[in-house]
Amino acid sequence: MSEPTPRQAPATGSGITCREAIDFIMAYLDNELPMEQRHEFERHLSVCPSCVNYLDSYQRTVTLGRETHRGNTDDVPASLLKAIGAARKRSGSA
Ligand SMILES: [Zn+2]
Repeated sequence: MSEPTPRQAPATGSGITCREAIDFIMAYLDNELPMEQRHEFERHLSVCPSCVNYLDSYQRTVTLGRETHRGNTDDVPASLLKAIGAARKRSGSA
């Protein structure tokens, strides 16, 4: 086993930063995060509601992306449909 590269521990002792946590999210959801980092990540989530929110919406986006392949358009934002409709109307009347 190779020695892990030494890392600078944050002076605050609060583990990873929000930026690092966000970097970890993708690997975390793919179960590719090393146990140590996974632990740090979960520890950060336990003290940082905004990252929990981010993870939640990220997870939803990923799920949505997968459902799109099944032709599910129910979750297209109404504002987007409105914008498309307005664009069509505009080009039709011009
Ligand atoms: Zn955070």
